[in-house]
Amino acid sequence: MACPDCGGLIDVNYVWDRLPVPASLREFESRWGHRQDPIDFSGVWRFRELLPFAANDRIATIGEGQTILQQSSGVGQYVGMNAGRLYLHYEGLNPSGSFKDNGMTAAITHARMAGAKLAACASTGNTSASLAIFASTLKLFDVLVFVGSGKIAYGKLSQALDYGAKTIQIQGDFDDALCQVRAVCSKLGIYLCNSVNPFRLEGQKTTIYRVLEGLGWEVPEWIVVPGGNLGNSSAFGKAFQELKQLGLIDRVPRMAVINAVGANTLYQLYEQRGLRWNGGRPDEQIIDQFYRKMADDNRRAVTLASAIEINRPVNLNKCLRTLDVCDGVVAEVTDQEILDAKAQIGSGGFGCEPASAASVAGAKLLRERGVVAPSDRVVCILTGHQLKDPTVTVAYHSSSNQEARETGGLDEMLQQHGVIDTRFANRPIVVENNFDKIMDVLQGFG
Ligand SMILES: *Cc1c(COP(=O)(O)O)cnc(C)c1O
Repeated sequence: MACPDCGGLIDVNYVWDRLPVPASLREFESRWGHRQDPIDFSGVWRFRELLPFAANDRIATIGEGQTILQQSSGVGQYVGMNAGRLYLHYEGLNPSGSFKDNGMTAAITHARMAGAKLAACASTGNTSASLAIFASTLKLFDVLVFVGSGKIAYGKLSQALDYGAKTIQIQGDFDDALCQVRAVCSKLGIYLCNSVNPFRLEGQKTTIYRVLEGLGWEVPEWIVVPGGNLGNSSAFGKAFQELKQLGLIDRVPRMAVINAVGANTLYQLYEQRGLRWNGGRPDEQIIDQFYRKMADDNRRAVTLASAIEINRPVNLNKCLRTLDVCDGVVAEVTDQEILDAKAQIGSGGFGCEPASAASVAGAKLLRERGVVAPSDRVVCILTGHQLKDPTVTVAYHSSSNQEARETGGLDEMLQQHGVIDTRFANRPIVVENNFDKIMDVLQGFG
């Protein structure tokens, strides 16, 4: 899926003036009336005029994209926003529990158009869960998923196994797994479903359409999104660029992409070394130098936010385009900040997995720095479901609790990642199996 001339990633482009595009985004709302039709029901394909690469009868859907935008006053207060200005967009409500389904439906559709017999991906967990659920539900072809060792959250691994995907666990990390799967796919002619696949990004644009729909088609001031392989941020920028070009919106919002400190390649390159899109010619020397140093130091990505534990983001250049289009900023947040934000999200809404909370932690940081104004309308994308990674959640909430110490290693796991203050922990109260003792504990309750 690389350009034969320059080696860069391919981009899907449309000849819009030969395609039927609605005169207004509001026209998409009429699709809600035909929810018995699977492509109108899909939160991705009901916007199909904005990703017009497939005939309707080729579309492979499992009802993805039924996600919602929720205004959150509790989280808004935590971030430091004026009342009513902070929104959480819950992509964890997808069939496999993460935004990856938005892109996978598009990749699977294209794989079917291309006559694929076998599809594969490398994954920190959610891409494999997504590919596996599409394979088990639609039975279009067999799939192969490559994951790294040790790091994958059990919620995600359990999905790939349960959906019956052949799972290859590489003794390495995600960056290693992606490198291997690209080589295997090119050798064996297997269809590759990672976000190097440009059709994934086409599907992922639809998160933005649903966000705008949730805001009554008004453009917010900020979109804040975690950055791992940078597929989502790349897709979002493309969505806004196209909507602007088509005259369907009158301005684009600003975008903030949030890295974990332990996996901060984009932050380092964009904010520290001044790397820019530069009209499609980013300074490759800056990138090469950074990666060479990383290899020399044998530096590996390390964060509890496993979905963004990536040091070599494949969509780097496309993300630079997004940052250019959306006057973007990049911030980095610690695992401590991520888990504190995650606890606030959990107690103020549907909850999310650690990587998703980087968006709220990042919004808070940018608010404190005055980059985001308290009156701005801010949309934080919550990329994955709370139940994806229960281990980290339980570790945070039961830290320094007797049970946690006895059941081994949870406190240690937090400490190894610099999480030492679990200020928002909702600790379970351990009590003997005795009615009176339980009543003692409940003194003053209710
Ligand atoms: C994949 C993933 C990310 C990272 O998104 P990119 O598009 O790779 O930047 C963040 N959060 C969750 C939950 C994910 O599954």
